[in-house]
Amino acid sequence: MKNNIVVELKDVCFSYTNISVLESINITIKEKDFLSIIGPNGGGKTTILKIILGLLEPNKGMVYVFNASAKKARKHIGYLPQHISFDFDFPISVQEVVLMGRLGKRGIGRKFTETDVSVCMQVLEKVGMQKYKNSELGKLSGGQRQRVFIARALSTEPRLLLLDEPVSSVDTQWQQAFYELLHDLNKEITIVLVTHDISVVSTYIDKIACLNKKLYYHGSKKEGMHKISEMYECPVQLITHTPTHDPSGESDK
Ligand code: ADP
Repeated sequence: MKNNIVVELKDVCFSYTNISVLESINITIKEKDFLSIIGPNGGGKTTILKIILGLLEPNKGMVYVFNASAKKARKHIGYLPQHISFDFDFPISVQEVVLMGRLGKRGIGRKFTETDVSVCMQVLEKVGMQKYKNSELGKLSGGQRQRVFIARALSTEPRLLLLDEPVSSVDTQWQQAFYELLHDLNKEITIVLVTHDISVVSTYIDKIACLNKKLYYHGSKKEGMHKISEMYECPVQLITHTPTHDPSGESDK
């Protein structure tokens, strides 16, 4: 892999109709980065993930994922979308849901192999859900279901994990465990986490970019490139945050 580069967007522009959603986006994501993309609702966060996945083609610019086209690289990407359409009344077990993630490797209609089942068990163990493998998905709590969906994304054995607003619908207790899990996964996998809430950018996340049509990259904490004060001066104004984090006190007014 050239210079350990996982994703490279060069001057990417995108619009769904005639309204511009992404303008001249440039970013390089390197191997084992843990990048959080933050910004207001409608800022283009989901759209940028779909471009990296090759589900949307930019109107202008270049997209490279693992030095190939986004579509070609898709098999190396695990994706947890913001909204998962699932009929929770449908009687399907946790193990079956996770195995569905292997369909891309196996192909529809083919039998799952021992390897598929073994990978499925490993990822369920990783997310702490192995003992629920025979439970019905619909009978689990929101946090437990989310772990199962993460396990499904991991069952593809991805080298890049894209997560879209993963903590928006789960309790705060699970959020902490969730970030610990991501921190652990990041030892092996590059992670891009999208959120509209700066308060969830925990100590685990290293690199931050703000997106509202344009992308403002704040670099790495380790390299001392971004400071929380700089984040508040970012032209992306509509980041939601808790007043306690606002050094200017502007949000209290
Ligand atoms: P975010 O994830 O930051 O909330 P999105 O990427 O979902 O933002 O959306 C960016 C903009 O594109 C919004 O104005 C949204 O209404 C618009 N948009 C998203 N999906 C579509 C679509 N399929 N067709 C037309 N407009 C869309």
